[in-house]
Amino acid sequence: MQELPEVDIYRAMLAERYAGAQVTAMHIHKELRESDGGHDVSQDVVGQSIWFVERRAQHLVFHLDNGKRFLIHMSDGVTAYCGLAADSAQPSEPALSLDFQERRLSFFGLRAGDLSIMSVKGLEGYMKTFGLDPLDKRVTPSRLKERFAKKRSSLKTALMDEKLMTGIGNVYSDEIAFEARIRPETKVAVLGESEWERLHAAIVHVLREAISHGGIGESPLFEGDILTGGYRERLQVYNRAGEACHRCGGSIQRIAVGSRKAFACDGCQNDSSSIGADEESLPQ
Ligand SMILES: [Zn+2]
Repeated sequence: MQELPEVDIYRAMLAERYAGAQVTAMHIHKELRESDGGHDVSQDVVGQSIWFVERRAQHLVFHLDNGKRFLIHMSDGVTAYCGLAADSAQPSEPALSLDFQERRLSFFGLRAGDLSIMSVKGLEGYMKTFGLDPLDKRVTPSRLKERFAKKRSSLKTALMDEKLMTGIGNVYSDEIAFEARIRPETKVAVLGESEWERLHAAIVHVLREAISHGGIGESPLFEGDILTGGYRERLQVYNRAGEACHRCGGSIQRIAVGSRKAFACDGCQNDSSSIGADEESLPQ
């Protein structure tokens, strides 16, 4: 799945470019329309101005001036590109393109069901089907604990569970566990108070840092985009097996958590030292 920072970077960059602009034309690729049962959202979008672009879970939500919300689900592999309608340099035909006079915003890799139009009320109802947004200010360490602690799963599995929390996948779950100094295979049920605090702080810190440094996306959003992908070189553990830990100098290990690969440092993500004092508060 596409993780939160990458979707949020799209949101910020698209809002900067298109807020206030009017959609003058829209094209949905024949294959996408057919796979979506002929569903065509363009009559609700063309002619409307975009007021605002928001991220909700893994969706970009365009607020239109007819009061409706146009949702694009940024599922795995979906990318966007801002260019000109006259541009012929695009590598493949987009699944969706939105024209703003001479400017064109294209999306690639969309699948059936990724596009929808909703009312404000409909959107709020739909969003109730998703887990917590990790960057929602109402998510506190105690709320996090309340939500996670009853699970039997490991930390990595719990972080990636979209019903608990949205937007954390394979990469940022390892980075968050490292930042919190908790091993990814630790069962969430044994975490103590101080660890919930550290975990909460790590979630916010890692995601915000990733957003501010451009995330790990591989496709530039526009010609000359030097932001996208900037966080790749700042990853602390993900895909760094055998390399030195930037924090303790130890060696980063590749491990298995359930059926997934994970990366952690043996030196500074050490459960025996970190659980300790809080153990008496374990659920009976
Ligand atoms: Zn280390």
